Amino acid sequence: QFITFEGTEGVGKSTQLENAADTLKSLGVDVVVTREPGGTPMAESIRELLLAPRDEPVNDMTELLLMFAARAQHLQTLILPELEAGRWVLCDRFTDATFAYQGGGRGVPVEHIAQLENLVQGAFRPDHIVLLDAPVETGMTRARHRGELDRFEREAVDFFERIRQAYLDRAATDPDRYHIVDAAQPLEVVSRDVTSLIRGLVTR
Ligand code: C5P
Repeated sequence: QFITFEGTEGVGKSTQLENAADTLKSLGVDVVVTREPGGTPMAESIRELLLAPRDEPVNDMTELLLMFAARAQHLQTLILPELEAGRWVLCDRFTDATFAYQGGGRGVPVEHIAQLENLVQGAFRPDHIVLLDAPVETGMTRARHRGELDRFEREAVDFFERIRQAYLDRAATDPDRYHIVDAAQPLEVVSRDVTSLIRGLVTR
């Protein structure tokens, strides 16, 4: 199974990804944890290019193509072979993040993203998407406490409001694959929700 974790800044994605990996391991499932943009040395180099703060404005199409360039590499050299070998792959962000950030956030037409999705992935889609959802302010406050902000995290609040909405809109189209977790709850409650969600996927 290919399970992705999505959400805006500071919703506790990394923590819950670890929690999910631990839950799966305790149930005897072989798990691989990875992230986007990145996941392989080549794709991690593209990530560095994407996140570096810079004076030159980055063209939306450049950003979009780099996201999918990293994804093509990640998919072919890591995700697909691992799934083929029978392992479960947990991924910190995937194409839903592109629809949310480059689509909802930057305003790139959804059709363009969908075209690249088909080109790079064929019919491949995540089996399940865990969407950690919290009001933008809640997450931003947490993210700020972590210190240094990258190029994306310096954006204005309304940028993240559009991203959150894009995620929620996508989730509403396919409730069997999208699982919305209320990430504004105390950490123990969010963790409990994610644990039981993941357990449910194993026994499904
Ligand atoms: O998930 P993580 O915080 O590691 O993502 C790194 C940065 O890349 C974040 O600031 C995120 O907002 C940004 N990003 C993006 N578009 C994507 C994926 C990630 O803007 N498709």
